[in-house]
Amino acid sequence: MAINTVGIIGAGIMGCGIAQVSAIAGFSVVLVDVSEDALSGAFKSICSSLERQIKKGTLDETNKQQILGRISTSLDYQALGAADLVIEAATENLGLKLRILKQIDLHISANCLVASNTSSLSITELAAVMSRSDRFIGLHFFNPVPVMTLLEVVKGLQTSEETYLQILGFTQRIGKVAISAQNRPGFAVNRILCPMINEAIFVLQEGVASAVDIDTGMQLGCNQPLGPLALADLIGLDTLLAVLEAFYQGFNDSKYRPAPLLKEMVAAGYLGRKSGRGFHVY
Ligand code: NAD
Repeated sequence: MAINTVGIIGAGIMGCGIAQVSAIAGFSVVLVDVSEDALSGAFKSICSSLERQIKKGTLDETNKQQILGRISTSLDYQALGAADLVIEAATENLGLKLRILKQIDLHISANCLVASNTSSLSITELAAVMSRSDRFIGLHFFNPVPVMTLLEVVKGLQTSEETYLQILGFTQRIGKVAISAQNRPGFAVNRILCPMINEAIFVLQEGVASAVDIDTGMQLGCNQPLGPLALADLIGLDTLLAVLEAFYQGFNDSKYRPAPLLKEMVAAGYLGRKSGRGFHVY
């Protein structure tokens, strides 16, 4: 089955980036969210990103208009009827994702593939609510999506080999490099990355070093392009907390307990770049 139209649920940081790379690759894109503001914000953000490419000389105005012309937005899941692949990229919350997947299931065609961009939740558990669980898979993008080349592909217990191969074809068409990981909390990359960021928050909380010095230390001492606290701000502190909670529960191991300072920051609404304030101010 050829993939021509991609439906995306959630027009936040990730859904917006996934819409952009899919439209650039020539797919028709339907971006669905419950928030009108999120949809208009995503469209504006894609426009600005394409404008930056024009300034760099890597895109021209005609291409920009063609790319934007391939993206439509909707508040209604009915818009998913024409999709060959739906990528769920809504808030990292198990109950919410299960509800969203049941809704997707009501509106898609029988052969539509469905993928979740979850950072930490079980693909097998998410697949279980779909009537075609063999056509469900984990497709984990990295932030910022237009810049990061990696995609982690995660099979649930029910995922068919055919679905896996079709998704690998999609990853190639959007110019990404895929790695495969087992269905364990955090898969491979976040399992390594998120505990490192959590440790940086413990170091800050204990007063061992300031936020600026922690980030400078890890950039200049470990060659990281972005310090761990600046990276936490980019990810979104609410998303990071949800991921660490999922590790903590999933492995039942205290080494994954989220730093209390992270919980406090989220409770205060300091969510990182998306709220204008996190470990740094934007
Ligand atoms: P975000 O908070 O920026 O956006 C989430 C969006 O989901 C919001 O626009 C919200 O309105 C929308 N939403 C909530 N309920 C909805 C519903 N019922 N139907 C449709 N839309 C709904 O979050 P994000 O950072 O884009 O993360 C989205 C997913 O991607 C999460 O599963 C997260 O774990 C994963 N992820 C995030 C990152 C990252 O760095 N932020 C990286 C990889 C994967």
